[in-house]
Amino acid sequence: MNLKKMEPGSNNLVEPDLRQLSIDDSRIMVLLVDDQAIIGEAVRRALLVDPNIGFHYCADPEQAVLAAEHTRPTVILQDLVMPGTDGLTLVREYRMHPALREVPIIVLSTKEESAVKSASFTAGANDYLVKLPDSIELIARVRYHSRSYMRLQQRDAAYRALRNSQQRLLETNLELQRLTHSDGLTGLSNRRYFDEYLTAEWRRAERERTELGMLMIDVDNFKSYNDTYGHVRGDDVLKQVATTIQGVANRPADLTARFGGEEFAIVLPSSSPGGVRLLAERVRREIELLGLPHSGSTTGPVLTISVGGASVLPGSGGSATQLVEAADRALYRAKNDGRNRVVVA
Ligand code: GH3
Ligand code: MG
Ligand code: MG
Repeated sequence: MNLKKMEPGSNNLVEPDLRQLSIDDSRIMVLLVDDQAIIGEAVRRALLVDPNIGFHYCADPEQAVLAAEHTRPTVILQDLVMPGTDGLTLVREYRMHPALREVPIIVLSTKEESAVKSASFTAGANDYLVKLPDSIELIARVRYHSRSYMRLQQRDAAYRALRNSQQRLLETNLELQRLTHSDGLTGLSNRRYFDEYLTAEWRRAERERTELGMLMIDVDNFKSYNDTYGHVRGDDVLKQVATTIQGVANRPADLTARFGGEEFAIVLPSSSPGGVRLLAERVRREIELLGLPHSGSTTGPVLTISVGGASVLPGSGGSATQLVEAADRALYRAKNDGRNRVVVA
């Protein structure tokens, strides 16, 4: 089994460390954007009361977005009237920015005026303070907005982590399903899946009144191949035979399986006896054309196969076993008739 170990973080999706997103006041970071240095100084002092709160001051509105990208604030204090870019334009820019759109914004205004408040909230601000609020009020609002922002981030990260692990689970299940359906040596479908598939196709053919064909393939004189060249090379040959016959039966509904040992089977939905014969002959020829030397063969100098084919129109009351038995009898005749040949029932 080569199931990939599913360790946390072993996938290539970016998964944030949830511990780093804890609701912790020491992660609070305030970015103040205001052209007046005196305001910058006053806010810095007001926040100093709480040593947990980080503070970054940006005096140049042109640098505000860049500063926010770098400092990753948990709340932005935004002045409105500044030279060049005005505060409301900046609020809209933060809201459009993929990394900043959720960051809470408290507008710092000089005026207690409805029109300005309204414009601020319309632009995307979360709160409005008239300069300069006292330290207690400022800190309370900074904490409140920062904590709810951190909570939001934590929730989003938890959702992402959940989605990632669901995705990994899905992939693991698919891989497990693939492994339980496939043959370890050749990678073809195994006998168990062949039986399931054939039964399902039988029912479908019955329902849709279409023909269902199959081939039973057996390597000629394979015991003697092992005796001459050893089991390891015998295994290699089985893999080559598997790949070759799978390449021939290439319609989407065709299913190539290892039936057991050196026997293979192909399910051929919607195939007439004529179609089955054509495909069987092509498979036989392709194997012969591989030109794998086989000195102990009774059919010639290279490895060959015998193929039995059958195609039926499933009627009510019958079962897929009928088809397998018919193909098996045809294979037996191909062996009896001298091997390296096709017989279709
Ligand atoms: P025939 O032409 O009548 O089919 O003769 P045969 O020798 O191919 O048939 P027989 O059933 O006598 O022998 C089958 C051989 O296939 C014997 C067995 O060791 C070998 N075999 C079955 N499975 C494997 C496998 O996985 N690897 C290898 N190397 N050999 C296998
Ligand atoms: Mg054989
Ligand atoms: Mg056999």
